[in-house]
Amino acid sequence: MRGVEVDPGTRTARANGGALLGELDVAAQAHGLVCPIGVVGHTGVAGLTLGGGVGRLQRQFGLTIDHLAAVELITADGRLVRATETEEPELFWGMRGAGWNFGIATAFEFRLQPFGPSLHRGVLIFPATEVQAVWAVFRDYAARAPDAVAVIFGIDRAGEGGGYPDDLAGRPIAFLAYNHSGAADAVERDTAALHAGPKPVSATIGSQPYLDVQTAHDLVFEWGHRSYINGRNADDVRPGALDELVELVATAPGEGSFSITALGGAIGRVPEEATAYAGRAAAFDVNADCSWSDPALDDANRDWVRRAMTVVEPDATLGAYANGHSEVGPKATRLIYGDAKLTRLAALKRAWDPDNVFHVNHNVAPAPDAS
Ligand SMILES: Cc1cc2nc3c(=O)[nH]c(=O)nc-3n(C[C@H](O)[C@H](O)[C@H](O)COP(=O)(O)OP(=O)(O)OC[C@H]3O[C@@H](n4cnc5c(N)ncnc54)[C@H](O)[C@@H]3O)c2cc1C
Repeated sequence: MRGVEVDPGTRTARANGGALLGELDVAAQAHGLVCPIGVVGHTGVAGLTLGGGVGRLQRQFGLTIDHLAAVELITADGRLVRATETEEPELFWGMRGAGWNFGIATAFEFRLQPFGPSLHRGVLIFPATEVQAVWAVFRDYAARAPDAVAVIFGIDRAGEGGGYPDDLAGRPIAFLAYNHSGAADAVERDTAALHAGPKPVSATIGSQPYLDVQTAHDLVFEWGHRSYINGRNADDVRPGALDELVELVATAPGEGSFSITALGGAIGRVPEEATAYAGRAAAFDVNADCSWSDPALDDANRDWVRRAMTVVEPDATLGAYANGHSEVGPKATRLIYGDAKLTRLAALKRAWDPDNVFHVNHNVAPAPDAS
């Protein structure tokens, strides 16, 4: 079930249903190619792709599903079916954003892009007292960012011994983190505006092999950790919300943090109706998340994530990224897809899985209006 084969002649990859992202990255980079995928190497290709696929290269190349040429799946009635733009096109539409609902994917075929081998990166850390100024820099930058730049604004708490100045340890910070996937000689020009705001207390800037970057967080997020994340799409966030979030991060029971990822670029150039993924036009993906190890902290950390997201609820627009939304249930499914897409998905579910065999997911109920 694992394994990825790349054909450099056609610039395509075939990943089996149990392959991990790291396998796809290594196989593609061996030929100077890439599929835009997620940021942790041991994530499954299947789950990530079937929900959309967001990571470091998507503003430049598009979501993972925008590179999906074909998916093979075993359906609820036991058939092996191939879905593409021309074979079972409606099923292929649903597989790109809500795919876990319609079968067990056994193989994926991806179109690859020439890329690599390096990624240029920067992380700028600021005291949280600068949160409004840092947000203003980020918001203005995101509105006209070159496609080659993936950029995140966040609020976190400076860990002890994390290389932060002593007076910041344990206190909330704001940060800007970017990846530049274009030519090395364009990095300084393309990211200058991110450096033009308040003076950071620390700035880590450099170039690293793409494959190293893609596995740099594998240990931090090693299997067995507990994590919870909820997110929404948004076009703006009220300044007052940011002050509340700084306070929430400062007083979080665990390691809760808040981040805003710039979308747009190639993601937003695909028409909204092309795939089941909802919210192509959104400027931002807004998230609260937490990871921890002790099961006794489950409730406290989950409640914290939910509380943080209520702060930005008034800013939310259509859709939420399914793979960035741990909350499940009918309300969450409706929020992720919006009413119109959910109606279309429910019809697809009735056609392919009327008994709801595949329900351990962001479930689209077969009955009309039941989701
Ligand atoms: C540490 C970490 C980092 C992450 N980083 C990113 C990121 O950078 N970008 C991003 O977009 N997402 C990211 N995610 C979210 C990730 O995309 C989802 O958790 C995704 O569901 C994981 O897929 P998986 O294959 O590992 O599936 P699992 O966790 O095993 O399953 C998730 C869902 O997919 C279904 N599923 C799994 N395999 C198949 C299959 N072959 N056919 C049909 N359904 C299947 C399962 O039934 C379940 O509903 C991250 C998650 C974690 C925990």
